[in-house]
Amino acid sequence: MKILIVEDDRVLNNGIALSLRNAETEIAQAYDIGEARGLLDQAVSLILLDVGLPDGSGLDFCREIRRAKGVGSGVSIIFLTANDMEFDIVAGLDAGADDYITKPFSLAVLRARIDAVLRRHRESDDSAESGVFEQGGFLFDFDRMCF
Ligand code: CA
Repeated sequence: MKILIVEDDRVLNNGIALSLRNAETEIAQAYDIGEARGLLDQAVSLILLDVGLPDGSGLDFCREIRRAKGVGSGVSIIFLTANDMEFDIVAGLDAGADDYITKPFSLAVLRARIDAVLRRHRESDDSAESGVFEQGGFLFDFDRMCF
């Protein structure tokens, strides 16, 4: 699994990277949106995305990723935000994020949020596949009872 951290606070970025990196988790680190664009590939399953970045808004970058149908379209996104006003939370979720976490946060809580988002993601992948069977050129969809 690969996680992309987009956070311009280098101390925070490195701290998150250190705490999440392990045998199963590869970490990529970007300090602005330009760098993040260059590092986003199909291997990335989750982006931790700061809202206030030097070259733009994380909200806009999130919308950009969700609009694009190609690279990174299935990626999970969790906002790291210093703004805990209701408006900002709504804006983050409206932009297509899976979750948000308000700074300052504990790394244990961050890890729990990441696990929850990835679990939901896997479950929705599974259910998308489980109800559909292909047989002799026909596609049967048992969830929608049609083919
Ligand atoms: Ca920032």
